[in-house]
Amino acid sequence: MLVGLYGGTFDPVHSGHLHAAQAAREELDLSSVHLILSARPGHRSAPASDTTHRWQMLKLACAASPGLIADDSELRRSGLSYTIDTLIEWTRLHPDALPCWIMGQDAFATLPSWHRWLELMQWCNIIVLRRPGDERLEPEDVQYLCQQHEVDEMDAQKIGQVYRVHRPMLEVSATDIRERLKKGEPVKNLLADPVYSYIKQHHLYEYSEKAI
Ligand code: ATP
Repeated sequence: MLVGLYGGTFDPVHSGHLHAAQAAREELDLSSVHLILSARPGHRSAPASDTTHRWQMLKLACAASPGLIADDSELRRSGLSYTIDTLIEWTRLHPDALPCWIMGQDAFATLPSWHRWLELMQWCNIIVLRRPGDERLEPEDVQYLCQQHEVDEMDAQKIGQVYRVHRPMLEVSATDIRERLKKGEPVKNLLADPVYSYIKQHHLYEYSEKAI
């Protein structure tokens, strides 16, 4: 059984994330996709909103989206949130479910900067989402990894495969949403309804009443 694990800062979780998780789930027949909140990311700057808000928004979004599960395993661990540790813990707790780590092409291109990145293929499959507008070339190390591990069809009995999702992704980013909120520009159709209401209620990201 293949299970999707989709890590992110989700600051905030948006329709691009939800669409991506469902697209991967359907295309690869994943039994579910766990959206894992990265509490203290080791390879990027600190999130703009605090962990409690990001977690509440993630829970609200997943509750409204079948097959998606909000996962707090990195919140419950202390120290930096390293993917390799999450995968090792996952395998110990779920020995029969093969984890597929889902990430956007932008994140995939940064893989060599991840903690113990060369070990990742021993613990999971990697599913890459082609993000619109992100045409930058993958670094040599990542190209080499793909030469060895990329497949056109995923074998549901194995780990150590890299697969690129064919379905198109939405052109939405959390950075853009935070900027729009700051400027009072509309964001409603970029977020699940309960997440939009939560941001309004808690005045997150310098939300201005002008935003509709
Ligand atoms: P930010 O703009 O703050 O970097 P983000 O929108 O990229 O945020 P993250 O929480 O950093 O969101 O992303 C989690 C994962 O989701 C990453 O692997 C990222 O590449 C991927 N992702 C984000 N937005 C999309 C999208 N619209 N389509 C597909 N994948 C996405």
